[in-house]
Order: sequence, then C-alpha cells, then structure tokens
Amino acid sequence: MSEHVWCHGPSCHLSHTQDRIRGVKGSKVLRTRKVAFNSEHIHMYSYFCSQGCYNDFANKHIERVIAIAPRTEALETPIDVVKEQKQYGWRDGTYTDTVITRVDNPS
Ligand SMILES: [Zn+2]
Repeated sequence: MSEHVWCHGPSCHLSHTQDRIRGVKGSKVLRTRKVAFNSEHIHMYSYFCSQGCYNDFANKHIERVIAIAPRTEALETPIDVVKEQKQYGWRDGTYTDTVITRVDNPS
C-alpha cells in the first residue's frame, strides 16, 4: 500500500523551490517535501526527496549511522590477476590490460 512520509532531510524545508511553498499571502512557509512511501519496496527514496537530503541526514547523524555496522577490520576479496595484451579498437598497436577475476563468492 502506498502512502506518504515527510522527507527526513534536516534542511529540506530550507531549500528555495516553488514546490515547497505553502500557506496564504502574508503567512507563507517553505515546507518539507512529502515522499511516496511503499512498504513493499523500501529504499533511500522512501524516506528522502533527493540525494542531497539523504547526504544532509547522513552527515548530520554519521556517528549513529556508523554505529549500526562499524567496520573494525578491512575486508578482502580473493582474486586472480592476469596481464593481457590487447589491441586498441581505434588505432594500431597494443596495450597491457590488467584483468582482475574473483576466485570465490565472498559473503
Ligand atoms: Zn528533502
């Protein structure tokens, strides 16, 4: 079922765009945008009207966001590295290409 939520961008209501203007002459406001929310298909744009509002939220709350899943050590992906000579598609000659292939299915 589709419904609406208010954009979670902390500065959404500060952007000077015509679609945010509400109210009558003499008492106009810039209002946070509504965002279509579909509980069957939740993603970033279920809560934010734009990439900018998402970035503002993430930057404001970054310490709490990182606390959800802190990275305490590097991840690694096993690979094979093969150097291949390849022909230019647009002129004579060859170049060395580095082909990286994953060797397992990391989780
Ligand atoms: Zn917004």
